[in-house]
Amino acid sequence: MALGLPSRLPDRVPTVREMLAAGERSFSFEFFPPKTDEGERQLWRAIRELEALRPTFVSVTYGAGGSTRDRTVDIVERLAHETTLTPVAHFTAVDHSIKELRHLIGRFADAGVRNILAVRGDPRGGNPLDEWVKHPEGVQYAEDLVRLIRQSGDFCVGVAAFPYKHPRSATIESDTEYFVRKCRAGADYAITQMFFRAEDYLRLRDRVAAMGCDTPIIPGVMPVTQMSTIARSEQLSGAPFPPEVAARFEAVAHDPAAVRRLGVEHAAEMCQTLLDEGAPGIHFITFNRSSATREVFQALAPRPATALTA
Ligand code: FAD
Repeated sequence: MALGLPSRLPDRVPTVREMLAAGERSFSFEFFPPKTDEGERQLWRAIRELEALRPTFVSVTYGAGGSTRDRTVDIVERLAHETTLTPVAHFTAVDHSIKELRHLIGRFADAGVRNILAVRGDPRGGNPLDEWVKHPEGVQYAEDLVRLIRQSGDFCVGVAAFPYKHPRSATIESDTEYFVRKCRAGADYAITQMFFRAEDYLRLRDRVAAMGCDTPIIPGVMPVTQMSTIARSEQLSGAPFPPEVAARFEAVAHDPAAVRRLGVEHAAEMCQTLLDEGAPGIHFITFNRSSATREVFQALAPRPATALTA
């Protein structure tokens, strides 16, 4: 445990696995480690505002190429010690030897962080299409990272899922096959890449179920708040923005406030469909801002879940 921090850690922090097994719906928020002091203030403002909604967990990404390693660990430590929130640490294999990976897993354990999202990681520069080069003494796939974390202690491990397949996967079939292998290596749940149409999540879920895998898959959702998100959809989600949804936004494109309103409405509609179809929860990608996420979350009332840290 870091010295000097006021500790709020209970003897045993509950895990996402336990909550999902109890049939609870999970509601969670994703943050990224900021690069500037102003970004840091913005992050903690968003965290404090979203804390009031008592999410099941909050997650903190690990910068492309392992670039934010220390900041990710610092933020999850602070979340564990200074807030009522349950942190999930994203953790990647990029540029790390197995020895370094073990050391970092130990730091999470020392901080009382028991929930880790194991992703292979984007190559330096952040483009998932760039070639991923394994550290000479590291691991090759997220599947190996899942095993390593599992062997290192009593952790709950999440993994990534891709509704439109990972950009580097040859086919949707091979993508599904390797996803299922990753789950069987010991993943407790998965979180998807963002998508903008409920059917795209449901198709992924059906493909995985058809292979006999019942690992819960939590949809990752980001409300559209500006037209530039639509233009960047392929980069963000791995697929062009669905044309029928784009048409709704194009009709109000001249009015930024109307675009934002529609973005909240569209995300809330999609989340409601996902929950009605039995999704185990919603993971909101916040980009360290609270307001649009809060509005979508509140449109989903009555709150159907209990926070882990009640
Ligand atoms: P893997 O599961 O290892 O898959 C990578 C590719 O290899 C896929 O094409 C897969 O089909 C293929 N594959 C897998 N196993 C095998 C095998 N045994 N043989 C052959 N091929 C195989 N990136 C970051 O840098 N930091 C983050 O914090 C981060 N958080 C994320 C959170 C979520 C919810 C999601 C969806 C993605 C996140 N990413 C993050 C991005 C992710 O790291 C990249 O997309 C990465 O390129 C793939 O990670 P993965 O864990 O899916 O890799």
